[in-house]
Order: sequence, then C-alpha cells, then structure tokens
Amino acid sequence: MTEREQFFRDVNKIVIKIGTSSITRKGCDHTRENCNIDPAFMESIAFQVSELRKQGKEVIIVSSGAIGVGLNELGIAPKPREIPIRQAAAAVGQSMLMQDWSRAFSRYGMKVAQILLTYEFYSDRVTYLNLRNSISTLLEYGVVPIINENDCTCTNEIEAIFGDNDKLSAMVASKIDADLLIILSDIDGLFDRNPKTHIDAKLLTIVKKITPEIESYGGDPTSFKGVGGMRTKIKAAKICSMAGCYVVIANSDVEDVILKIASGEEIGTLFLAERHIQKNRARWIILARASGTVRVDAGAKAAVLGKNSLLPAGVVDVEGTFDRGDVVKLECDGKIFAKGITDYTSEELIKIKGVHTDQIENVLGYSNYNNVINLQVIYGNLRLI
Ligand code: GLU
Repeated sequence: MTEREQFFRDVNKIVIKIGTSSITRKGCDHTRENCNIDPAFMESIAFQVSELRKQGKEVIIVSSGAIGVGLNELGIAPKPREIPIRQAAAAVGQSMLMQDWSRAFSRYGMKVAQILLTYEFYSDRVTYLNLRNSISTLLEYGVVPIINENDCTCTNEIEAIFGDNDKLSAMVASKIDADLLIILSDIDGLFDRNPKTHIDAKLLTIVKKITPEIESYGGDPTSFKGVGGMRTKIKAAKICSMAGCYVVIANSDVEDVILKIASGEEIGTLFLAERHIQKNRARWIILARASGTVRVDAGAKAAVLGKNSLLPAGVVDVEGTFDRGDVVKLECDGKIFAKGITDYTSEELIKIKGVHTDQIENVLGYSNYNNVINLQVIYGNLRLI
C-alpha cells in the first residue's frame, strides 16, 4: 500500500471544490463569450460522485461559476468591476448552474440541493449548527449539497472577505469535519515556481507542512489564471490542515480525477493534515469545564452508551446555564457517565425534558436535527463517536 493509499484509507466525508475554469467550456477568461457551462464535465463529476456514494462516502460540492456564467448569459465582457453588475450576473448564473448540476446528477438517479452561504456560518454558532444539520440531513437522503457564496446579496464575498471559493470550501470542509477537500482547477497542483513561465518548474506531490517557503510558491494573486490562484489554495490548505482535513489540489482535466484521488492515486499535490486533531478535540471535551449537567434516566443512558440518540423523553433534569455548542456532562443515578457538546440550550432542554420526541416542535415552536438531543458524546476513555 502506498503512502497516499494509507492516508486515504479512512477518508469518508469529501468536499469537492470546482472552479469556474473547470465548469465552463474552454475555460473562462471573461474577455470572450466562452463561459458556457460544460455539460460533459458536469456529468463526469456527477458520475464520479455517484461512484463515491456507492462506496459509502459522503460528498459535498462547492461550485463556482455563477458570475462567469451569468456574465456570459447577459452578454457582458470583459468582466466588469462594478459589484452590482457582478451580483446581477451571479443571480442569473447561479440558477443556470444549479439547473445544469441537477440535470447532470439526475442521469445517475441523484438529487442536488443548493446552499448559498455568507461568511456568518463561520462565526455564528447557531448558523453553523443549522448548516451542519441541514447538510447531514441532505446526505442522509442521498442528496448532494452544492454550495456557493451568496454573491448576489453579499458584497463581502465578491470582494474582500472570502473573495474566492477556495477559502469558502476550506471553511466548509473544516467546519463539517470533512476528511478530504479536493480543489479542482486548471492547474496540476502546487509547483515550486510558476509553470507558465518556468519550464523547469517542479510539481510537489506532497506537502507535509506549510512552511514560509511553501507559501512563497503561491506567488502573487495574479500569477496564475483564475479568481483564487495558488495563494488562496495554499491558504485553504492551511485552514484544513488545522482542522485535520487533507487537501488535494489537482487538474480537473485528468480523467476520473476524483475517483483516482479518492483511491489514493498520486495525482496533484497532497497537503497533509494534522490528523491527531480529532483526538485532541476528544481530549479537549474531556478536559473542558462543563457548563452544565443533563440528568438522564437509565434507559437514556443505555441508549447513549449504545451509540443511540438521546431523546428528550429520557432527560430528567437540567442543571446550569449553557448555550448550543457548549460542553455538558451527562449524569445518571448521581454518576457522570459521559460528556458532550449539546445542540440545545439549557433553556430549551428544560422545556423539552420528559417530552415525547414528536412534541418538541409544539413545545419550542421548532426542532433541531431529527428531533433528538444531538450530542457529540465522549465517554471516559477518549472515545470519539
Ligand atoms: N462565487 C463566485 C461564482 O460563483 C466564484 C468565486 C471563485 O471562483 O472563487 O461565480
């Protein structure tokens, strides 16, 4: 087994970021009318994703292309600087993009869902929890979530704050605990110098640590074609590395590129991740001071220890004041048996304790994921489920 095959053995949740240049026929430089969507390319992605699903993997797509496709549809070239025009273009292009994704996936009997994000999902915990829950529900239904920036309403995304889908995809991958982010673009990976100007430029197949030297290979943002360029891709890899997620940057022109990457073939540049981070998170939960205690009955304890959901009917009492995302202790018969991160606030839990699952919505006016008390539970011995 090669090094890569070993790294990718346990890869389950994969985010695939697809750049505008890959989605559009012959690339998209906004100077000519060449920003048509490439249906054959989309179909090849749909085919590969359907194959990964058959292998039991979860796949989320981050798709660019809204602005490019919209500009093309409106007959606007070259790419305008005016934000309102680009926003209008994004609104036109986004729906076209989704129609084509939907068509491509339907050939393989799969459904897609559009998720448009603003940067709030990253800083606002409730927004993030909602996003995470919607994504996991979509995946459970076998739907492929297709994410883009909400360019039409949010100038930050188009201009400075995200500015590119490389960073967005890294933030998504790190927040939803993906194992691998594949960034597909029109370049083969990270080179030690610009391959377009240096014929002796060498492709790096693996980056174990993002050092200042590696960062210097990114060049300035305009070194390579495309919105993000290499610099933003290295930044994306940095975000993912800290979250324990591998990144592969590869050329979308390679046949079955996603399947090859997922099977551990040496394609593009692999950025290693700090895989121990997940364990650290478990350790962190154990060491973190709990903000409160959720007392449960014996049935609920058995369910949780059997890796089943904690239902509100099993909650006897709630102690302390905590928010969603806080660490709480789980107690039964006066003994702490687990700790976890809660998806409900203490106030909400007090209202729904002892209540039948079907009634959560009636009591709160809304309900969380699957109507269960979603807890990321850790037991005594650093065990993460
Ligand atoms: N969100 C932009 C679009 O869909 C693309 C940003 C990027 O290519 O990185 O057009």
